[in-house]
Order: sequence, then C-alpha cells, then structure tokens
Amino acid sequence: EVGRPQLEKGEDFHMSVDLMEHLLSIQDKAVVDGMFAHAESVQQKNIGNKVHFRGIVEFSNVCRKNCNYCGIRRDMEDVERYTMSKEEILECARWCFQNGYGSIMLQSGERTNRAHLNFLLDVIKSIRKESLELDVEQRQGLGVALSVGEQSKDVYQELFDAGAHRYLLRIETSNPHLYSILHPRDGLHEFEIRLQCIRDLKQVGFQTGTGVMIGLPGQSCRDLANDLMFFRDEDVDMIGMGPYVVQEHTPTGIEYLSRPQITKEELFSLSLRMLALARITLRDVNLPATTALQAIVPNGREIALSCGANMLMPILTPTRYRKEYQLYEGKPCVDEGADECRDCLSNRVKWAGKEIGLWEWGDPKHFFRRT
Ligand code: SAM
Ligand code: SF4
Repeated sequence: EVGRPQLEKGEDFHMSVDLMEHLLSIQDKAVVDGMFAHAESVQQKNIGNKVHFRGIVEFSNVCRKNCNYCGIRRDMEDVERYTMSKEEILECARWCFQNGYGSIMLQSGERTNRAHLNFLLDVIKSIRKESLELDVEQRQGLGVALSVGEQSKDVYQELFDAGAHRYLLRIETSNPHLYSILHPRDGLHEFEIRLQCIRDLKQVGFQTGTGVMIGLPGQSCRDLANDLMFFRDEDVDMIGMGPYVVQEHTPTGIEYLSRPQITKEELFSLSLRMLALARITLRDVNLPATTALQAIVPNGREIALSCGANMLMPILTPTRYRKEYQLYEGKPCVDEGADECRDCLSNRVKWAGKEIGLWEWGDPKHFFRRT
C-alpha cells in the first residue's frame, strides 16, 4: 500500500525520488493500477480528454553523430542515406494540414553545415507560409516542431525566427556516467553540451521537450526516478520518452544482448509507470505515446493514452524512406503510408475513449504557465 495516500494529494503534490523509485519497481498490482488511474484523473483535470496529433516527418537520416544505441548512427554502413526534397516535405505538410493535424514535427539526424541549415530554414518558412494561405478559417496554420539535434544558440534562434515554435531534444539519460557509456567519448557527444542545448532552447523561447530512453543496459530504477526529477527541475514543456529498443548491430545493442534482459511485458510496464509518474508530478506538460511503445506491444500507444499520455505522433515519412530510418528493430508501420496511419490511429484514440483535437496545435499549458 506504499504510495497510495501520497497519490491522493493532488495539486501541490511533490513526490520524493525515493517514492518514485519505489513506484517504478513495486510488484503490487493494486498500487500500480491506482497509479495509472491517478495519472488519468490528473490528466482529465489539467489537460482534459483530448488527444492531439503531431505528424512526424523523418526528413533525413544523414547524421554526424555516432550514438552507440542508434540504428542510423554514422558508422552504420548498410543504411542508405537520404534527404527528402523541399517539395516532398511540403507535400507531407499539406497532407498534415488537410487532415486536421495541428502540427508537424521535422526530425532528422544531426547536421550543422550551413547549406543544410539554410535548406531547413527555407522549409520551415515555406510550411508556415503555405499553411497560413491554405487556412481559410484563419486559424494559426500548421505548428512546426523540430527534432534536429544539438545546434548553437544562434542557430536555435534562427530556427525559431523562421517560424518553428517547438523543439524536442532528449537528454537520453540524466545520469552523466551512463550517458558517457552510451556515447563515444570523442568531444562531440558530451552530456554538458546536450544539457546546455536544452537550456538554450528554453531561453530562445521554444516550447521545449526532452526525454529519455527506458530500459537501457546499465540503467536502474533510481536513474529513472532521477530522470523524472530532472524533467521537473529543468521545467520543460514536453516529455518524449519511450523504451529503448535493441538494434543488434550497434555497440549498445551488442552490450544489451550479452546481458540477462527484462521481458517485453516488464519493459512495457516500466514505460507506462514512467508516463504515469511524469503526468502525476508534472501535470500540464505534453506527453506523447511514442512509436517505440508500439514496437514492444501492438496496442501499446493506446494503452499509454489511459496512463498519462495525451499526444500521438503518426509517422508521415513517405513509405520508400521509412526502411532507412530504422532506429531499432521492429519499428512499426514501416510498410504503411500516411493514410493508413491516420485511420489506424483515429481508431486507437476512440478505443482509448478519448477525443481527437483536430486542427489545434495542442500547446502544453505548462509553457504558458512558465512564460
Ligand atoms: N538526431 C536527433 C537527436 O538525436 O536528438 C533526432 C533524431 S534521433 C533518431 C531521435 C531519438 O531517437 C533519440 O533522441 C533517441 O532517444 C531515439 N532512439 C535512437 N535509437 C533508439 C533505440 N535503439 N531505441 C529507442 N529509441 C532510440
Ligand atoms: Fe544521430 Fe540522433 Fe541517432 Fe544520435 S540519436 S546517431 S544524433 S540520429
């Protein structure tokens, strides 16, 4: 019964890291179900019953980094590198707008060369301009979110000025030691730089998202509890987190497979608990049910909608590129197109008893509270 009385405290609820760690590892089903039910009630109270869609376009798999866990890391030789053309990206944005998705997320490997940044700036401006022209109802056009890695503060400012207003940069783990094991020690993959980037993004004015992978080799429940504290301390607006899924040809994948592993059910349960605890402690942030959840349990994303998640990020990447953006094995929807993803996700939202917030940006209330 540990945890129950505290879970009823409501608004000014502050959970200790010890209690979070306990709730991440506890076996008592009644307590776990109580935690999920409480997350749902915190969500209804602070966010409501709506789920918002953010279409994700994985527009390039070219990356200067070599993160040890990632299936498109620089050293992966079998990956055919691509960058979608401006017209291809705009086509996805049009689809997104016409289907009532409030916003689009442009995601890619990390690239810092000037020509590529100019291309991205042009794409962002064109999406904003075109969607505002298409917007006969004079709403706000399509919101643009980015997930294009570590950049200088000046570049973040340029991206913001071009019209992007959200940015996702996961810290991956808030434990600097674990971070150093998961990344090459070459000066390019530094925990401090990543942390500074998250702080720069907030200062520039982005609605800022971060997050972690759950179930990494060498990661403890204490680490995950500390990750939740990190989200609270950094006062971010969105948390994008999901299970680590193995890619067997990566250094982390090899390490993972050499150890005794937790089952998919345990990993899924841990991921749901992280979502629920994030909702309970952070209340009004945006929490997407990420694709990786579905990679481990087929209806994983809709179950997450009842445990704290309030957003879905359907993949809009054209089918011909999807197989080259396989961050991990078993990534879902690799052979499907945007239309199939839309229908499938709408059904998933209805199944979870939620309403779809069409045409709305779905901004996190947290952002307006902190700014
Ligand atoms: N390059 C940008 C960056 O790293 O921020 C954005 C793209 S990157 C592919 C997006 C996220 O994919 C990373 O933040 C990481 O958490 C996640 N990712 C990479 N490999 C993964 C794996 N094997 N399992 C689960 N998530 C993974
Ligand atoms: Fe590149 Fe992002 Fe993958 Fe790291 S996680 S290798 S930065 S795409």
